Amino acid sequence: MIPLCVPNIAGNEWRYVKECFDTGWVSSAGPFVDRFEREFTVAVGARNAVAVASGTAALHVALRLAGVEPEDEVILPTLTFIAPANAVRYLGGWPVFLDVDPEYWQLDPGELVTFLEEDCEATACGPRNRRTGRTIKAVIPVDILGHPCELDSIREAAERFGIAVVEDATESLGATYKGSRLGHVSGVTCFSFNGNKLLTTGGGGMLTCEDDTLARRARYLTTQAKDDPVEFVHREVGYNYRLTNVQAAMGCAQLERLDDFVAMKRAIAHRYNEGLKGCAGIRPMVEAPWGRSAFWMYTVRVETGAGVSSRELMHSLANAGIQSRPLWQPLHLSPAHTGSYARPCPVAESVHCQALSLPCSTGLSVQDQQRVVLELKRSLANSQRSGSVSSASR
Ligand SMILES: *Cc1c(COP(=O)(O)O)cnc(C)c1O
Repeated sequence: MIPLCVPNIAGNEWRYVKECFDTGWVSSAGPFVDRFEREFTVAVGARNAVAVASGTAALHVALRLAGVEPEDEVILPTLTFIAPANAVRYLGGWPVFLDVDPEYWQLDPGELVTFLEEDCEATACGPRNRRTGRTIKAVIPVDILGHPCELDSIREAAERFGIAVVEDATESLGATYKGSRLGHVSGVTCFSFNGNKLLTTGGGGMLTCEDDTLARRARYLTTQAKDDPVEFVHREVGYNYRLTNVQAAMGCAQLERLDDFVAMKRAIAHRYNEGLKGCAGIRPMVEAPWGRSAFWMYTVRVETGAGVSSRELMHSLANAGIQSRPLWQPLHLSPAHTGSYARPCPVAESVHCQALSLPCSTGLSVQDQQRVVLELKRSLANSQRSGSVSSASR
């Protein structure tokens, strides 16, 4: 079986984790937590980094830093993993779902401006959604699949309308926007170290932020909002969201390999692009002029010209022992988020129908990748042949 995407644990992980056990530093304080945060700021060029228990926790705290309160609205692309929308609901807020652009499948800045101009009215507290009566507090550009959003346009719109930007770069660690690593382009950026992400600590996340006061507040909120080092005094409700030293130890070892991992992902994407050239109906991922993708999850569109649907292709690959996977149900269609406002999202619906992610673990061998390309071509040829036979016999 060739899996979709599995961790690569072949560096100093074992050594660093053993050090935690040998020294007894296993919990949410310890030298590796500090070191992981410090080295992470260097790796992405951020001023501050706060290690947290998960990417979702990072988003939850980041939205609280952005001042999201019950009944506020937060703008999101509809085509994303569900976590950022859930984080909005944790605060009693509501997501607003907008469509993505057809080329790169990221939040469409044009849709963002259209929503803020046409569906909202200006008030003293910021833009208000005329249909729901709720105030818009923030926008979450989600850099999906390893590729950056058009962040300048999104930030300009956010500044113009007075809303905060919380970037969700959980899928795009190592990617760059106009030459800068994601992590300091937006004021607040969230990362994840879940098992399927580019770097993993088993589970974990990081919140980077340029403002020192906000960073201090993030640290405070993620440690139960403790106000005294000795006495148990708390001025507000915080969270137990810190990363443990054991996880951070693994993170330090993984971080040493970040550049290698990005290079491996880019090599895999390049080989797929070459291998799938000339495959009718298979449209590979492309990079926008503003970005350099980390190609976290290599995904193709299976268009009508392929003669087979993305789901049929997934099943024939599975029969050949190859794991592939569709993208997320667009969130404006998700039962978990009924009651949220959305604009029409035809692009996301079409991408959802056609997209298929292919095996792209950093450890994927050239031979295994050739097998994926071969099987994919064989499935296409088979279905095109059987398609023409059945239409000829009709
Ligand atoms: C993985 C992911 C997250 C959440 O990360 P966890 O560490 O699993 O909580 C958030 N947003 C997106 C877009 C993701 O893909």
